[in-house]
Amino acid sequence: MLNPQPGLYIDGHWLSGSELLSVINPATEAPLATVAGGDESSVEHAVQSAKSAFPAWSQTSGAERGALLRKIVSAVQGHRERLIELQSRNNGKPLFEAAIDVDDVIATFDYYAGLAEALDAKQDSAVPLPSDDFVARLRREPCGVVALIVPWNFPMVTTAWKLAPALAAGCCVVLKPSEVTPLPELELAEVIAQCGLPDGVFNLVCGTGLAVGAPLAAHPDVAKISFTGSNAVGVQVMQRAAETVKGVSLELGGKSSLLVLADADLDLAVELAMGGGFFNAGQMCSATSRVLVADELADAFLQKLKARAEAIRVADPFDPDVEMGALVNQAQYQRVVGHIARGIQVGARLVCGGERPADLPRGYFLRPTVFTAVPLDSALWREEIFGPVLCVRSFATEAEAIALANDSEFGLVASVVSADADTADRVANALHAGLVWVNAPQVIFPQTAWGGYKQSSIGRELGPWGLQAFQEIKHVIRSV
Ligand code: NAD
Repeated sequence: MLNPQPGLYIDGHWLSGSELLSVINPATEAPLATVAGGDESSVEHAVQSAKSAFPAWSQTSGAERGALLRKIVSAVQGHRERLIELQSRNNGKPLFEAAIDVDDVIATFDYYAGLAEALDAKQDSAVPLPSDDFVARLRREPCGVVALIVPWNFPMVTTAWKLAPALAAGCCVVLKPSEVTPLPELELAEVIAQCGLPDGVFNLVCGTGLAVGAPLAAHPDVAKISFTGSNAVGVQVMQRAAETVKGVSLELGGKSSLLVLADADLDLAVELAMGGGFFNAGQMCSATSRVLVADELADAFLQKLKARAEAIRVADPFDPDVEMGALVNQAQYQRVVGHIARGIQVGARLVCGGERPADLPRGYFLRPTVFTAVPLDSALWREEIFGPVLCVRSFATEAEAIALANDSEFGLVASVVSADADTADRVANALHAGLVWVNAPQVIFPQTAWGGYKQSSIGRELGPWGLQAFQEIKHVIRSV
């Protein structure tokens, strides 16, 4: 076993917990590191550290917090290459994808530095009242100690989307990374630790969901829990949080659609299907894994998509020509392969992929996979696969396409491809999804909200909504 590295950052100190986590390289299956993660006692230590730091931190000005967030921006910029490398190595994603992640982290901290700075001018703003006998003012105050629990598919990005607004609001934080991908998170924490935050404001506890996540979700001194992960765990987190009536934000799964309307540019539609299905090896909550194509384009679309998918270079994340990397671990690989096998059993037609590339005998690699004729009641059509698997189906009318897209318990995102702006807007407005891209790849800006309808989310991240998730609202009404 490799020498364990400390997996706890509490009250300004790196510590080792007693729960050892083995971290692997998904591209080689070789051990990468052992992390000494924590348990319930580490959670207690971290929460008490955050609680002690809260009175002073919550009284700092927005300008002071903004200045610290700007230091984090510079520090992450300075460590960009190292963070990219670690993310690729631990997660299996190509370097160019990991670079997009790190740049997103930088943009998110930069955006919330600006919102923190803007808070001071808005604090204690007057509230117009229909009476001259009273005056009222509005304060937005940090909600307290917050627990942030994140998944493995975009480790540092999901962290930044929570951590930056929580710090901007004036909250003290206990972060729990995924036990699958702690290495980029540990490096990011080390970078943040160098930026001069007061001890206890930012704490990190690596560990499993049961040893660390569950006690965090139940802790009475945690005011708010912000969770990104699977629906099954999200439900458990919400149930535990209910016992102490803490605020809950959830970012969960998806089963999103890309709608290719009859007037769509075929090449653009194929490129968007490739990105929505195979970026991050399809391990995206926002994967547009259902592709709905107008009847008149369906045959040509499928032919082009097959050719593009078969040409994708699946390779080690560090290969200079790699287009798609590895799935994150054996459990995820087997889960996706199981979905493919069950899809074939229920009569779906495999167009391409469905197996490991012949030249990659080791590592959790899968060929980009496309199905058609997928039964509408099958798991392949209805459940989140979280791997490089697309289901293509044709439709006759716009109304049918909208109905197919909306027929899901999820409602995270959607994409629409159409040459006509009015048509695209009409369809976008009819979709039950929190974010719709029109003729665009899955670009994300910190200024626009992230989150979905139905069982995909509770609340919204990013934008001012991401900050408000960590604030309490207080009105003070005074007689004059
Ligand atoms: P997961 O639910 O298994 O784990 C997420 C986090 O929860 C991990 O840190 C894990 O250790 C922790 N956890 C596990 N059991 C716990 C428990 N009982 N109590 C508290 N915490 C616990 O999810 P995953 O496999 O890491 O990530 C994949 C899932 O995340 C997919 O379903 C995906 O759709 C979702 N996701 C959603 C978004 C979004 O923005 N909506 C973004 C990324 C990923």
